[in-house]
Amino acid sequence: MSLMKIPYENLKTLNHPFEAELKKRFSDFLDKGWYILGDEVSLFEKEFGDFHQEQFVVGVANGLDALILSLKCCNFQPGDEVIVPSNTYIATILAILHCNLVPVFVEPDIRTYNIDPEKIKAAITGKTVAIMPVHLYGQCCDMDPILLIARNHNLKIIEDCAQAHGATYKGKMAGTFGDFGAFSFYPTKNLGALGDAGAIICKSSQDYEKLRQLRNYGSEKKYHNGIIGFNSRLDEIQASFLRIKLPYLNKINQHKQQLATIYLENLNESYIKPVVTEGFGNIYHIFNIRHPERDRIKAYLQDEGIGTEIHYPVAPHKQKALKAMNDLHFPISSEIHETTLSLPCSFAHDTEQIYRVVEVLNKFI
Ligand SMILES: *Cc1c(COP(=O)(O)O)cnc(C)c1O
Repeated sequence: MSLMKIPYENLKTLNHPFEAELKKRFSDFLDKGWYILGDEVSLFEKEFGDFHQEQFVVGVANGLDALILSLKCCNFQPGDEVIVPSNTYIATILAILHCNLVPVFVEPDIRTYNIDPEKIKAAITGKTVAIMPVHLYGQCCDMDPILLIARNHNLKIIEDCAQAHGATYKGKMAGTFGDFGAFSFYPTKNLGALGDAGAIICKSSQDYEKLRQLRNYGSEKKYHNGIIGFNSRLDEIQASFLRIKLPYLNKINQHKQQLATIYLENLNESYIKPVVTEGFGNIYHIFNIRHPERDRIKAYLQDEGIGTEIHYPVAPHKQKALKAMNDLHFPISSEIHETTLSLPCSFAHDTEQIYRVVEVLNKFI
């Protein structure tokens, strides 16, 4: 009997349904000969805004830059503190550090893996200027209490939406709660380009104008530089590819939700599964389980031809790059990093493959 190999992700398969349209768009692009900041970027910004019922969207080079430019837009002072979940992907923390700000880690809720609003208050000091909620794995943070705290303490909110395209909280989409919503279109994200890309949703015309300058050398008008900017533009070609895929984002999310439901309904109860809560529309960018024997399970699945990933194997405060934080203790984050395992759950997978993963996993128990 031949082994059915199931990779964790397969980008070629994922983009196969769009192949004809992508080729046509590339051919149009070549004919047109306009590569940077043209109609495709403007149209994508408009369409991504319409998707979120938001007016102000600025395309940028990647998700990290979306976070950095959002922070830069706020004019914080060096040494100001930014509250961030202790179990996020390193990019959120790097954005804070690159702006000469101080990340203040707050532990997540062990059930949701998202920042625990109860613990935010204790982390606020006279230097706190912002909260960066990260909608991890595709599930929104509990935004109501976070927004309340921000309002009471006059803090900015910059949402890291890199894993949450179209995720909802009480009917509203990730990226529309805070002052800024920062998105990545890295190829594996629910809305993925064919290279690096990102975007920012913001709430005021002032921030919108400033972000447009920040991404393009601080320039308001060609060769007139009002502020110290970056080169962080969204490529025309990537914008044109994203315009093809955006109309399918709901379909992609629904497909992943369908696969997640198979896991949720059929996986043995000894695996800790993502919590499902009324009012939270999870788009399952990542479908993770937790188990104390994570490493053995990963190896066992590998032997059965099933690919998995760990998001993430090392907690940020244990990274060599963040040496000053290596002695801090975040037991909930550590627990998650030691036990989490991400299962195949991509637009590239079909239900038959997921049932096979379930069968193999349930056999382990
Ligand atoms: C992917 C990701 C980013 C960074 O996006 P890039 O486009 O790779 O720069 C930031 N934060 C989170 C939570 C991510 O998953």
